Amino acid sequence: MALVVKKFGGTSVADTKHIRNVAKRVRNSHQNGDDVVVILSAMAGMTDHLIGLANAVAETPDRRELDVLLATGEQTTAALLAMMLKDMGYKAHSLLGHQAEVVTDCEYGNARILEIGTNRIKRLLAESNIVVIAGFQGVDIKGNITTLGRGGSDTSAVAIAAALNADVCEIYTDVDGIYTADPNICPRAKKIKEISYDEMLNMASLGAKVLQIRSVGVAKKYNIPVHVRSSFSEEEGTMVVQEDCVMEQLVVSGVTHDLDQARITLRKVPDQPGIAAKIFSPISEAGILVDMIIQNTRASGQTDLTFTVPKADYKRAMDIQKRVAEKIGAQKVFGDPDIAKVSVIGVGMKNHSGVASLMFNALARDNINIIMISTSEIRISCIIEEKYAELAVRVLHTTFGLDA
Ligand code: ADP
Ligand code: ASP
Ligand code: MG
Repeated sequence: MALVVKKFGGTSVADTKHIRNVAKRVRNSHQNGDDVVVILSAMAGMTDHLIGLANAVAETPDRRELDVLLATGEQTTAALLAMMLKDMGYKAHSLLGHQAEVVTDCEYGNARILEIGTNRIKRLLAESNIVVIAGFQGVDIKGNITTLGRGGSDTSAVAIAAALNADVCEIYTDVDGIYTADPNICPRAKKIKEISYDEMLNMASLGAKVLQIRSVGVAKKYNIPVHVRSSFSEEEGTMVVQEDCVMEQLVVSGVTHDLDQARITLRKVPDQPGIAAKIFSPISEAGILVDMIIQNTRASGQTDLTFTVPKADYKRAMDIQKRVAEKIGAQKVFGDPDIAKVSVIGVGMKNHSGVASLMFNALARDNINIIMISTSEIRISCIIEEKYAELAVRVLHTTFGLDA
């Protein structure tokens, strides 16, 4: 008998027919004698729909009320699944985030889980219930409803698995595992049997949204094995585990793309101490995350400075930089939201040289211009024009011998 946390994503609970499929899978596991805790997302498209409603009634929807609204997506699916299981003759009990005591900080829309009180969940399990918990939501210390950021049900699931000391956290989704690249744009992508937490952290932060990045961080911290698999087949998926449990280590194990980036350049910035601080302090005060930064020195005591921000923050960041440019005497600010970041990732890169040149040559052969480059021990990322993103992923996938 095992304690299993099963999370089902939006497409897996897209309508009542899909929810019935979930109910059957959950029932099978319960009948095998497992203690089952289910974490649910909202129906596919529901969170976007709710955001649309909020934007229709308010120019800048109040962040507290927006979380109250968004949490209803997961409330609906949790209630429907528990109802269905009871109707099928099983003991089930739904819990919302606050009832499951998922306590978070007060950052509406992107709250972090601080702690999870497990007494109620454990009591319900001891009474032979299938426990169904609304993902993506929690409660702050003042009792306000919070949400965990897009894709946050993954983090709900892993954090609840950690709090319960579960044997495994299963993430059921619309692909049958983690692939060497997004299988929806790279038909030759291969399913990975096992991937280390660090590689998955990199893949998630570089655009592979199959797992929310924070869920991987929690899994690594508490050493929770995560099994990413399909809702629609019984096939084994991908295990996300500690690095020393991964049998095969490739130089490059995955290629990702991220379309959620925009670039901002300040031209002819005075090359003096304190200038970078003047440029980036107002950006960080506005809560905008800067990803890559490059600075090119000009001969004339001036530099050009380029950086990237999430697309959603592009307009705000441009407005801030126009004001900064005037203050520091930069010649011009311009930007481009139509860029993409393509990355190659692999723990094996630590002990290999030549990966970067192989990547640059491959992009050059297809005439794809590299706008920015950044590297770490286990990944190399290039900013390119957005229209080449899918081509670049496929080219790099072939170049690094990953094609199926
Ligand atoms: P869910 O609604 O179940 O949470 P998501 O849409 O969040 O599902 O995540 C699954 C999607 O992640 C897949 O449909 C796929 O397009 C995308 N994806 C991106 N990169 C990868 C990858 N390397 N392996 C598998 N899926 C990936
Ligand atoms: N429903 C939320 C979203 O669409 C959370 C999730 O699905 O994980 O982002
Ligand atoms: Mg998801």
